Amino acid sequence: MTTRLLILGGTTEARALAARVAPIAGYDGVLSLAGRTEHPLPQPLPVRIGGFGGASGLAAYLQREAIAALVVATHPFAARIAANAAEAARMTGIPAVRLSRPPWQPVEGDDWRRYASLDSLIDGLAGPPRRLLVTIGRQDAARFAAAPQHAYVFRSIEPIDLPPALGHAVTIEERGPFTLEGEVALMRRHAIEALVTKNSGGEATRAKLDAARQLGLPVLMVDRPAAPALPEVASIDDVIAFLAHHAPPEKRGV
Ligand code: NAP
Repeated sequence: MTTRLLILGGTTEARALAARVAPIAGYDGVLSLAGRTEHPLPQPLPVRIGGFGGASGLAAYLQREAIAALVVATHPFAARIAANAAEAARMTGIPAVRLSRPPWQPVEGDDWRRYASLDSLIDGLAGPPRRLLVTIGRQDAARFAAAPQHAYVFRSIEPIDLPPALGHAVTIEERGPFTLEGEVALMRRHAIEALVTKNSGGEATRAKLDAARQLGLPVLMVDRPAAPALPEVASIDDVIAFLAHHAPPEKRGV
């Protein structure tokens, strides 16, 4: 008899958590991915791919698969799945915890312009053309077609399909971690005038903020969406402690 865990993933942290859970005797973990990435990295746990069909679909999955605990280790900007997870945990009574990296905080010398949503940031891009480095992921890149006058450099892990209005944009496919020297060089090479990003947090991609500060460039920053109604921890150790308390290895929790 093993304790079944469901980890909602799609992040570096979820992968690292899966690597911690995999060798623990008595845990039987499954990692769930949305299926957005064409070439997902190999994972340390069995993987299931695709949506559940909303909160009720996820609740049904948790019950059908006799899941003892749910860990929400999705990206801080993946608001829908996190809200669904909170609702499914409420519906089923299954213990759930969210692993969320702390947001970046501005430091002395930073020039951040903060926006509550990507929509409001894009609205704010009306005005004369500028050279912008955009690192918001490939899913939302096409929305910048609403401000086609700018010279864009889009950087993402996977290739971006851009609409004709953005046909002049430069695209760069690269996976972090990035270095300060590399980010400064990139911004200089493209004569970047502002960085457009969202407050994902984490070490792997924070060098761009340091580079912008060093070059005196403004950062147009999308703040995080509202957090779901779930207990939240910031480290893998704290997830393991939560699981040890609420769904210890070997005891089936449902
Ligand atoms: P989202 O808007 O919160 O979710 C949209 C729908 O996709 C959900 O309602 C759910 O479908 C499905 N879904 C999302 N994550 C899932 C998962 N881990 N397993 C199974 N189904 C999932 O999410 P998103 O912003 O499109 O992000 C999708 C995935 O990419 C997430 O796994 C996230 O961690 C990862 N990611 C997102 C970002 C970002 O900036 N948003 C950045 C890096 C990685 P159903 O309702 O049908 O269950």
